[in-house]
Amino acid sequence: MVVRNALTVDVEDYFQVQAFAGVVPRSGWDGFSPRVDANVGRILEQFARAGVHGTFFTLGWIAERHPAMVRAIVAAGHELASHGYGHALVHTLGEAGFRADIHRARGVLEDLGGVAVPGYRAPTFSFGARTPWAYQVLEQEGHRYSSSTFPIRHDLYGDPDAPRFPYRPAGSTLWELPLTTVRLGGRNLPCAGGGYFRLLPYRLFRAGLRRLNRGEQRPGIFYFHPWEIDPGQPRIQAGRTARFRHYLNLAAMPGRLDRLLRDFAWDRIDAVFADLLTPAPAPARPREPATA
Ligand SMILES: [Zn+2]
Repeated sequence: MVVRNALTVDVEDYFQVQAFAGVVPRSGWDGFSPRVDANVGRILEQFARAGVHGTFFTLGWIAERHPAMVRAIVAAGHELASHGYGHALVHTLGEAGFRADIHRARGVLEDLGGVAVPGYRAPTFSFGARTPWAYQVLEQEGHRYSSSTFPIRHDLYGDPDAPRFPYRPAGSTLWELPLTTVRLGGRNLPCAGGGYFRLLPYRLFRAGLRRLNRGEQRPGIFYFHPWEIDPGQPRIQAGRTARFRHYLNLAAMPGRLDRLLRDFAWDRIDAVFADLLTPAPAPARPREPATA
């Protein structure tokens, strides 16, 4: 059987990425000319041509400024999900700040989209040891799943010892759906998109995802950002590493995406993981034994 993979987009603009946070303060965001709505428009066209649906983890800050874009995502049959409101790392918000951030984001998204928003993805995969309250707060705020962890070793995020496949975090009824990795030489290697998808040859990525789908019979979760298909975006004068990661191979991205959409089967998270996310009906009660 062909395994379907989850296609996800983190809807934020080019000036909001964590790698630029040191040179672009939050207070300066409104000074940049937005490109996210045009880029999401191109993504919607590309997905429509390929006949696929996906999940759009959208920032509340962006949704408020681009309501027509939010409605277009929903109207095209995609899943609307939350990327929080202001893209702050979750551990910097603290428990009360996190609650306020996700509450505001979900309210904005549900009002504009006119749909329930069960899904959430933490900015920069910033769930971990410093956020032990995160899942409980998510659940209390009405979310049913999170796709916020990356079980790899990385300088900005990740926990190489975290589970690779969906699990219920301790004390919680919601599901965590980790970003995709492949096991090689006793290590988890990222196979989920982001900068690695632009850096490595496409065939390596394809081999990794095939191994997951055919060998392990598991669905993958792929993610990218609208700014990754936009070579014309204004250049931000950040450090060397940040610039390398952000601007590498942007022009090649739409073509690579086309191949990826062709080579694998794709769908929204709530469809790919429907067996986990749809509550099973209560088992029928065994019939009382007949009495003589
Ligand atoms: Zn993000």
